[in-house]
Parts: sequence; structure tokens; C-alpha cells
Amino acid sequence: MTYRAGFRLRQDGKIEAMKSKLSTEEKFWEVKSLDALSSEEWESLCDGCGRCCLVKLEDADSGEIYYTNVACKLLDTETCRCTDYQNRKQVVPTCFVLTAATITDYPYLPETCAYRRLYEGKGLPGWHPLVSGNRDSVHQAGISVVGKVVSEQYVHLDQLEEHIVDWPSQG
Ligand code: SF4
Ligand code: SF4
Repeated sequence: MTYRAGFRLRQDGKIEAMKSKLSTEEKFWEVKSLDALSSEEWESLCDGCGRCCLVKLEDADSGEIYYTNVACKLLDTETCRCTDYQNRKQVVPTCFVLTAATITDYPYLPETCAYRRLYEGKGLPGWHPLVSGNRDSVHQAGISVVGKVVSEQYVHLDQLEEHIVDWPSQG
């Protein structure tokens, strides 16, 4: 049996999981392959962490990708939502549109990313909104970029290297 794990803040400041049963029908990500998902199911897999919306730098010699703590200009850094999701490709040409067919084109997806996790057969963690039933659990668990990033509107291009950080690509 799989359980739905919500979170609540205890009086001592620690986060405590609250569990309830999750039906087999609700666990589509466990019974369907990524390329068999409906567009609605696919979109719902995104945990809203905002990590993939951070500016990345590529080493011109090695091709290695480095994350920064600088967010795309369209990312609302308070909610981790794209402020123009429907038109994002037109406004930000470098924004990638992830599909089951292109997922291997982005090996630098964060280890926490639901698409990467499912592709690697790891399942979804308890803080994922589909498991917890709470869209805020990704923030409460400290996975999202809320409170950790600055919008690119406030950072000069020459300063980007000073913003390189490790945590977005890790768990
Ligand atoms: S890293 Fe993955 S789960 Fe997080 S916002 Fe990007 S696509 Fe969604
Ligand atoms: S355009 Fe939207 S989805 Fe794309 S990187 Fe920017 S904030 Fe993220």
C-alpha cells in the first residue's frame, strides 16, 4: 500500500509527515511509462521546485554545466511559478520544453526532478505534491528555490560566475 504524506509544522519548528492512503488509480506514475502519460499527467509530475529555471553556465572547454542561484526573468521567485508559461518559449528562447522523448537531452536536470527520478526508476519522494497532496510540500521540504535565489533582472551578466552553486543539481 502507498500512502499520501502531507506535512505540518510542529510547535518545535520541525516538519512532521501526515500520512493517508493513496489509491492505485491515483498513482499513475507507478503504472504508466513516461511516454504513455497524458499531457495533464505529464504536467502534474512537475513538482514546481523551480530548479530547472535557474540560469546555467557552460564551460566552453569541457562542456560541463554549472548551476547558478540566479533565476530566469519569468520565474516568480516567491511561488516558483513561471509567470508566462504558455508563451515561455517565445519570451525565453533558451527555455526547454521537456518531453519523454527529449528527457535524455538534459542530463543536467536536478537529481530531485520528478521526470529524471522516474526515468531513472527511482519513484517520487514523499515531499512530491502528487504524493503529499499538498503543493507547498516541495517548499516545506526545502527542495524548491524559494528564498534561495535572485532574479536575473537584478544580476549583471558579468557577475554570473560569482553566483555558481552546487545545490540545485543535487538532492
Ligand atoms: S526541475 Fe523538474 S520538477 Fe523541478 S520545476 Fe523543473 S521540470 Fe519541474
Ligand atoms: S521561461 Fe518559465 S519555465 Fe522557462 S525557464 Fe523561465 S521561468 Fe522557467
